[in-house]
Parts: sequence; structure tokens; C-alpha cells
Amino acid sequence: MFIDPELDDRMLPGELDLVIEAADMMTVLAAQRLVRIDAMRREALREATRNGRVLTEVVERGVRLELAAALRITEHAAGDLLSFSEAVVHSYPVVLASMERARITERHAQILIAAVSELEPEFRAQVLEPGLALAEAEAVGTFRRKLRGLIDGVRSATLTERYERALTRRRIAVEPDDDAMGWVHVYAPMVALHAAFGRTTAMAKGIIARDGETRTLDQARADVVLDLLIDGVLDTHPDHVRGVQATVFVTAPVLALLHESDASRAAAGIDPPVVEGIGPIPLPVARELAGGASGWTRVLTHPETGMVLSVGRDQYRPPPALQKLVKWRADRCMGPGCGMPASRCDVDHNVDWALGGHTELTNLGPLCEGHHTVRHHTDWSIRQVAGSGGAILWTSPSGRRYLVEPERAVPVFRSTGSRGAPF
Ligand SMILES: [Zn+2]
Repeated sequence: MFIDPELDDRMLPGELDLVIEAADMMTVLAAQRLVRIDAMRREALREATRNGRVLTEVVERGVRLELAAALRITEHAAGDLLSFSEAVVHSYPVVLASMERARITERHAQILIAAVSELEPEFRAQVLEPGLALAEAEAVGTFRRKLRGLIDGVRSATLTERYERALTRRRIAVEPDDDAMGWVHVYAPMVALHAAFGRTTAMAKGIIARDGETRTLDQARADVVLDLLIDGVLDTHPDHVRGVQATVFVTAPVLALLHESDASRAAAGIDPPVVEGIGPIPLPVARELAGGASGWTRVLTHPETGMVLSVGRDQYRPPPALQKLVKWRADRCMGPGCGMPASRCDVDHNVDWALGGHTELTNLGPLCEGHHTVRHHTDWSIRQVAGSGGAILWTSPSGRRYLVEPERAVPVFRSTGSRGAPF
């Protein structure tokens, strides 16, 4: 722990211990409060039953009012407290036990129980235990983020079915607001919305960069959307913002794409494809994006190392991890007989980028400056041999052929089905 030497000794550990002690006591007492609130609710229900009253809802309403009045809180807050107490005491006693030992704060417990309660019942048990372990280890903010990741992972097993059901509910709606204004809501796949928002932002930024432009980015975004929706005519937009394309990063473990369904992928313990800023996406959507939809940056990753294997046609320069992998595989320049260490080489697109070559492991190899020049500016030609794991076949101007094998093999993974792996 860093202790600022300028700080006076009031905040040094002795005092901090007292703060922690008080906080722990508060948590223990909070647990006790929840237990007592639940006991009160149950007693009221029992009492009502004895008196022959059958409308549980009305009785609970009465309990809520009583609790609100006694604690001087709103009935709404009292209602939340009652349902939280019931959940902690009856549905999730392990959470209560953790609070009673001051292992988690009441806030952690609220977040955990809210998240678990929202889950489909079949997933609750899978999330509760690891979720509680996270609550006991992490600060509230980190806990919330990691819990979200945990839930995404667990739920991704049925993502495709849920996505397809939800997709049938896509729609737009207009919601009126004050001052003759209102909102348009679009319920649609998040990947598409992300792209739409990205493109709108890019266009709006291009517009407000003009001299004399006074609109804010928010205002320009709203204007761009309306221009596109109402007229579809962009006469008022400067040339440089037309045809702007959104870039969305899709990261898909190669092995994930080989699975038939999210269920079998999850069963095999392979992470779901994710879109930066969105989270997991269904396999069919990822497969479509990986397969050549334009306007996306496709990132395929090595199943074990998570290393990037391809960014397709969306980026000329290989990402650092891909460059590293290409150089590691070759170890040396891939020119015939050359001993130049790969670290001192350029990464060559074996099929020229200009001729449609992709930025992917199967089209990249390191070449030293000399061999790079020969390959580009003489009648020598090269091609990477398909399925060879990176071997380069050089053909001389006289037609002689030389095969240069890489030093190392990047493991090739195959599905259990009949299809081969794409790398
Ligand atoms: Zn060389």
C-alpha cells in the first residue's frame, strides 16, 4: 500500500482498522435488519391467515406502509427492502451468511441478488457461487463489471435462441416528450445499432469540424439521423462525410466459429465471439461478420493464446500480436537461404494488399529488406502454400522453384466434424 509521507498519522493503519471495524459492524447489523424485516413480514402474514384474511397482496401492502412509517422512508423504498429481505433470507441464504460474517457489504449483496434474480432460473445456481466469490474479493465497481462478464459467459450458451426470439420483436417507436420534442426508439440487434451510432458519430464529427459550424456533436448526430431518415438526401452534408463506414471490432475465437451452436461451444468451454463495447454475440451473427460482411473489422483469434490471426481486408498493417506470431513462426526471413532474424524483417503480404490480399496469418511472412525488394521489383514471384502452415514457394525468373519452410508450426486446430479449421 502506498502511504503519502505528507499525510498526517491520523489516517495510518491504526485508525483505518477502526474504520474497517465500524464498517464490518454496519454490515453485520444490516444483515440483522434484513432478518428482522423478513420475520416481521412473515409474522404479519401468519397473523392475517389466523384472522381469515386471504388477500396476501393487501396484507403485504399493510406491512409495507407500517415499515415505511416506522423507518421514515418511502413506501417504495420499504417495498424494495421487504423483497430484498425475503430474497436474502429465503432464496439466497449463502449471501446472508456472507453478510453476517462481514465478508461482503450490503451493496455487494444488493447487486448480486438483483443480477441473479433477473437471470433465467436455470442459470442462477451457476452464477450465485462464483458471483459471491467475486463479491467477497472485489470492490463494488470491479465486482459489478466482473459479475456482468460472468453472467454473459453463462448465458451465452443459449444466446442464439434468445437472440432469434428477440429479433422477431424488432421495431421502432416514437415517444413524445415536452416542448414539442420527442424520442425515436429503435429496438434492433446491438451490433447493427453500434454500427449505426458509430457511423452517425463519424459523420457528425466531419460536419462540426467545418469552419463556422456551431452545432455540438450531439446536435449534429441528431441532425444526421433525421437527414438520413426523412429525406435520405445528403445535399447538406459535406462530401468528406459521405460514404463514411462504421468500424466495429468483432473478436471471435477460431474454434468458436467451428461449433454448430452456442450450446455446444459453451459445453466445450470456448469463449463466445464478442463485439467490442457490446459483449457476446450469437454464433450465427459472428459467422456472418467473419464471413465477409463489409464495413467490419474482423478479428479472428487463436483458440489457445487468444492471439489475433486475421483482420481480413479491414486493416493493412497487421496488429502487433499478429506480426509477432508471423515472425515467431518463421524465425528468419522467408527468402531462400536467408538468415536474417525475423525481428529485423518487414511483414510481407504474400498476395499484395493492392491485389486483394488479406491481413491474416495465411497471407503474411517476414522478409528482410533485400528479399522484400527482390520480391516486389523483379520477376521473382512468391506465394504462400495453402495448408502448409506458412511455407513460401519462390519462383525465379527462369522458372525454378524454391520452397522455404517456416521454422515453427502454429498449431492447427480441427473441428470434430468433417470441416477443417480455417487456419
Ligand atoms: Zn532475406
